Amino acid sequence: MTDSGAYQILVYGNVEVASEEIVRYQEEINTDIATILDVPTGWIASKQHAQYTVNETLSRAKELAKTKTREDIMWVGPVQGGQYLDLVAQSAKKMGKLPFQIHALGSPTPIMEQYRFDILVDMILTAKKNLPPERPLHLFGAGHPFMFALAVALGCDLFDSAAYAIYAREERYMTEHGTSRLGELEYFPCSCPVCNRNDPQSMRALPKVERQKMLAQHNLHVSFSELRRIKQAIIKGRLWEHLELRAHGHPSILQALKKLKKHSEYLETQSPVTKNRGLFFFSSIGLSRPEVVRHRKRLFERYLPPKEAKYLVLLPQTQMKPFHKSREHRRALKIIQQRLGDKISEVHICTYAAPFGVTPQELGEVYPLSQYEIATPFDTETIEYTAKQVSTYIANTNYIGVVLLEDFEVWKGKIGRVCKKACVKKNVYFKALSVENPWNKNALDDFAIIVEKMFL
Ligand SMILES: [Zn+2]
Repeated sequence: MTDSGAYQILVYGNVEVASEEIVRYQEEINTDIATILDVPTGWIASKQHAQYTVNETLSRAKELAKTKTREDIMWVGPVQGGQYLDLVAQSAKKMGKLPFQIHALGSPTPIMEQYRFDILVDMILTAKKNLPPERPLHLFGAGHPFMFALAVALGCDLFDSAAYAIYAREERYMTEHGTSRLGELEYFPCSCPVCNRNDPQSMRALPKVERQKMLAQHNLHVSFSELRRIKQAIIKGRLWEHLELRAHGHPSILQALKKLKKHSEYLETQSPVTKNRGLFFFSSIGLSRPEVVRHRKRLFERYLPPKEAKYLVLLPQTQMKPFHKSREHRRALKIIQQRLGDKISEVHICTYAAPFGVTPQELGEVYPLSQYEIATPFDTETIEYTAKQVSTYIANTNYIGVVLLEDFEVWKGKIGRVCKKACVKKNVYFKALSVENPWNKNALDDFAIIVEKMFL
């Protein structure tokens, strides 16, 4: 892949070549992927100048059809607009209508240098939403392995190939978590051939050219191994987990990951419905995951409780999944059934569980409601989110009575409070049993009595 010299415009102000020359030159050197001479917006551009760069890049993109002579080269249509998201959207929409094979997002280098990946999230997703989804997206200037997982999760497919050498020239040692200076390393945290054969001290003693060559080799190794890890994570359905791992390697990536919450509904529309793996939830960050958003949307837009279900019985989640097959739930059901007899058919048993919210018994085995692991104790955001889902579920359904068995140690009364509020609002009967150990015999007996009283 060749670049067009556009970045030099940004750095040096101008380059003395015409855009046709750049097209011809790339054809002559037989490149596989070529880039038109775009006009980078830069980061400190006024809106007026940004609009100019969008228009000028677009008009050069249109000229390409007249100037190119070969059909066997893939051309990159750059998207400009910088920090002005409306211009990025406009640029992407128009560029996407032209016959390019690949697109690229221009000018994020300054914000990457300042580690403002949270801003980058908005830029990339604005471009992605407006470009044809089947065309790969290249991220100009992005060549550091510590942000590859984030960029891939946002939909980027190609990265900058010069970063490893530029970093080496500045004696910077890349890792998948960030950058170290060769001068400050005592040990190499890497097992690539370069790091295996040398230690930082001996490398520092080498002549400059040799040292930088070795650093470049290491930087390239670490970049490729991160790309391989990401590809493997995608195959295993573990890209989100991999991204969370990287986010805890550097605050700037975590900041960007938190920003994904704003875009979670869009990410849901682009994510596969099933995977052949379960999900890992580490903290409330996972609440933005497409699977959590999908369950929320589908439960409220597509789901109706069984017709005969007049009463809602809410049970806490168990370690074992599916919940309704756990020893605890089977035991609870047996005790309730003994009290209710035939009336049990009017009861709808649902589980309230972090992070998905309400799981109706009959959906217990639908992916991923029982194919996940979550770390306890839950953080405040996770508790609040789950409570909100329970309250919305009650608000959106028409039970005539609700009873809740609450695990007080886990939920601190939060589920009870929101259920009560939602039931009062709808004028629905409500009772709760909040105990430290909801699964012991006494608690279940007491709970069954409460369930029976609901029928009176
Ligand atoms: Zn290495």
